[in-house]
Amino acid sequence: MLKFESFIFNPFAENTYVVYDDDTKDCVIIDPGCSTPGEENELFGFIDSQRLKPLMVISTHGHIDHILGNAAVKRRYGIKVAAHPDVRNDYESVRQQAMLFGLNTGAACELPDVDLQDGENIKVGNSTLEVICTPGHARGSISLYAEMEGWVFTGDALFCRSIGRTDLAGGDYAQLRESIKGRLFRLPDDTEVFSGHGESTTVFDEQRYNMYL
Ligand SMILES: [Zn+2]
Ligand SMILES: [Zn+2]
Repeated sequence: MLKFESFIFNPFAENTYVVYDDDTKDCVIIDPGCSTPGEENELFGFIDSQRLKPLMVISTHGHIDHILGNAAVKRRYGIKVAAHPDVRNDYESVRQQAMLFGLNTGAACELPDVDLQDGENIKVGNSTLEVICTPGHARGSISLYAEMEGWVFTGDALFCRSIGRTDLAGGDYAQLRESIKGRLFRLPDDTEVFSGHGESTTVFDEQRYNMYL
């Protein structure tokens, strides 16, 4: 069984997740948003104190608040960044987004190294995370489903009682609605949803109470 630790980083209050197998110590870092040396120390301190072995960074999508720590994590652990190939368009505009918000991203804007496709299983210790394509908030948005644990990490596709904005480049409301209703809501009702911002929720509660769908 997997465990995870979450962190809230950068001015956008972005949720960063370290998902790990406590037996093998293998871990992946989903959307490292650390943007200051203090935040980097918090993330690295956890990984190092648990003696975890980072396998890769996984980007749920290419928005700046989710990739600010990519370069630092890559550098520290010598690992690669995996994402859906469609995020490349967003990375190309990320430097401008960063400047707009007065953030210094430096090498965070490097393109991802490894492509992830729908249905792909990422092995983390003795468990797996399945890639589920959930575009609509951004191009190439993915969710990561841990079937054994009953968790799904949705990035900015689905939030507790809300959904991702669709007014940025590559956003498409109809597509997002289809991603949520056609993919995420087909997961078991009691699946816990861990989003890119804010509190966790469940598939059941969002089917019932989410007013944006
Ligand atoms: Zn986003
Ligand atoms: Zn976000």
